[in-house]
Amino acid sequence: MTRLIIIGGGIAGLSAAYFALTRPQNPPDEVIVLEKAHRWGGKIATERVDGFVIEGGPDTFIAIKPWGMALARELGVADRLHGSNPKQKATYILHKGRLHPLPGGLTMMIPTDFGGMLRTGLISWPGKLRMGLDFLLPPAKSPGEESLGRFVGRRLGREAYEALIEPLMSGIYAGDGDQLSLQATFPYLRDLEVKHGGLVRGALAAKRERMKRNGAAPGSRSMFVTPQTGLAELVEALVVRLRKLGAELRLGVEVRELKKDSHQYSVFSNQYAVLKADRLILAAPAFVSARLLRPHDPELASLLDAIPYASTATISLAYRLADVPRPLDGYGYVIPRREGRKALACTWTSTKFPHRAPEGMALLRVFVGRAGQEDAIDWTEEGLLAIAREELRLTLGVTAEPFLHRVFIWPRAMPQYNVGHPARVGRILAGLERWPGLALAGNAYHGIGIPDCIHSGEMAVKSLFRSQDERTQVNADASR
Ligand SMILES: Cc1cc2nc3c(=O)[nH]c(=O)nc-3n(C[C@H](O)[C@H](O)[C@H](O)COP(=O)(O)OP(=O)(O)OC[C@H]3O[C@@H](n4cnc5c(N)ncnc54)[C@H](O)[C@@H]3O)c2cc1C
Repeated sequence: MTRLIIIGGGIAGLSAAYFALTRPQNPPDEVIVLEKAHRWGGKIATERVDGFVIEGGPDTFIAIKPWGMALARELGVADRLHGSNPKQKATYILHKGRLHPLPGGLTMMIPTDFGGMLRTGLISWPGKLRMGLDFLLPPAKSPGEESLGRFVGRRLGREAYEALIEPLMSGIYAGDGDQLSLQATFPYLRDLEVKHGGLVRGALAAKRERMKRNGAAPGSRSMFVTPQTGLAELVEALVVRLRKLGAELRLGVEVRELKKDSHQYSVFSNQYAVLKADRLILAAPAFVSARLLRPHDPELASLLDAIPYASTATISLAYRLADVPRPLDGYGYVIPRREGRKALACTWTSTKFPHRAPEGMALLRVFVGRAGQEDAIDWTEEGLLAIAREELRLTLGVTAEPFLHRVFIWPRAMPQYNVGHPARVGRILAGLERWPGLALAGNAYHGIGIPDCIHSGEMAVKSLFRSQDERTQVNADASR
């Protein structure tokens, strides 16, 4: 009998259970998933209420990383996936308190439409001239690990970074671009510089390549997809499938302690005296894994604990359309750090996904919380609601009472892939060598997007069963 226990029932932990049970060879006899909360999905949290579909965490996943689409296909959810509204694709950037349309022609977030860049009011003329230097500056020879801010600043200038690139890129991590590691977040940007001699030149080449491949203007198909009634569909389908496959899924179980003897792990929780496992996947946040491992391996625990996390919140508010003075003619807006607002973005959900609000209603979602600025936020539900309402008043002129609102608070939710992250993860993986039968999964290590988390679950399972698979292969070869 082999028993695999997975700690954490977010998308990474549930995916790990799926990949373990569907292994073509050597599947474990028993898979148990233990989740502290009273629902599955972790950061994926969808509420369906009064005809609204409200996402508390992620609202889409990127389709070009294969693992999300592949899992959706295997679960029979793929035909329920759709992109965002192709008819009103504008995105805005707040600049000196006013919304400016994002210049068209951004490829991999790098501007490639010169007309659009010349016309935009987001960047001053000296700033635009500085961006043009990207064509003349040679690639840096060996800059070492750079922050996103330093890299983009060196190629396109600080102004373009702060006004345009920072709000787009840092928003994904709720991070500080001057801390985020380029290598760990957007490594392809450095590749563009090295291969093509400059960022814009590289982005233009990528755009041509994509047009050749797709036979269409880039951007004509949505890069981000989501199921009809929210991302929870993916979690729901996964849970149904796991039950069919025989997984034991237990909610409300907080794992508090681990012990290891020569062959087995003992898992202690608030619910069971002890559960024994031959293999273990820690798919909880890195700081939780650190806590569980600290008594046995303080060095590994310290490395895990050193991964910083940012707290974040989303506040969804519904209004009658007539109460929103500005036309909601796009997906929403992002707010550069230098604007000094507490919010970092606002999605116009009812335009981005028209079926997610009843006719005549507007659904808006405000994001609050940035790495390094958490102390300035009142993290209570009332405090966050007040910040969101103030943001909507200032930028969209909305003063009406919302028809309904939902506040989702995510303390220490977004791991920060700061400079040093790749080396730290390398040392964590090396430290895991001391722990046979144990693997880590989740958003703290190799990518925070949903497809990355799914992939992390798959890789954790592969790493746990590698030696068994190798033995099976050797036996098969020998008997041939
Ligand atoms: C507001 C927000 C918006 C986002 N937007 C997007 C987006 O649009 N697209 C995208 O791809 N990604 C997005 N992300 C990122 C993505 O949602 C997450 O990175 C991903 O869902 C994390 O999955 P996970 O399984 O690694 O971790 P989690 O979802 O955090 O799951 C870990 C689980 O472990 C459980 N746990 C913790 N401690 C214990 C314990 N001691 N015992 C048992 N269980 C425990 C937790 O309760 C939790 O359920 C967003 C994230 C947030 C917060």
